[in-house]
Amino acid sequence: MANRPCGACTVCCTWLPIPAGHVGPEDKPAGVDCPYLTCAGCRKYENRPIICRRFECAFLKARAWPVEWRPDRSGLLCLSESLPNGLWGSAVYELAAGRLDSPVGRAIIKQLLEQSNFVVLITQDGRRTLRPGLRMDTKPERIPRPHFVQNHRPKDSSLRPHNRPLP
Ligand code: SF4
Ligand code: SF4
Repeated sequence: MANRPCGACTVCCTWLPIPAGHVGPEDKPAGVDCPYLTCAGCRKYENRPIICRRFECAFLKARAWPVEWRPDRSGLLCLSESLPNGLWGSAVYELAAGRLDSPVGRAIIKQLLEQSNFVVLITQDGRRTLRPGLRMDTKPERIPRPHFVQNHRPKDSSLRPHNRPLP
């Protein structure tokens, strides 16, 4: 079954870092717009790089999630991935202050905890909290750091998306 469309959301085109060679000769840092991003969306959407074609946030993967949970509406970018030791990890990035504690935020976190071994919550100001999921049977210190937690740290805090208004 085909995944749902992104609709008007372009959060990952700004929020996520993209290695050199995909959308330009240099790394695109997290928090910086992709050079192909316009106010009408991706201007090379039909020929977008494979890295973009393959990327799916948790909303895009989950057809049952309501549209209010889409990152541009919820203010939360959720990523999930399977890890080498059979664990399933998720991360929730807060894109605007207070979204983790909003009713939608709490509902999203509850859903992710039910389908993950752990969820890392990253607040707008960069604080990280690890929450064990319902299927958790491994001690937190044994959990490998998912690549999306390792890689999504803008060195320059001015580039963090919490310094940018949501669309
Ligand atoms: S953050 Fe998710 S829904 Fe939004 S554009 Fe990226 S993949 Fe699509
Ligand atoms: S190439 Fe298009 S889809 Fe990929 S990050 Fe840039 S704007 Fe987004």
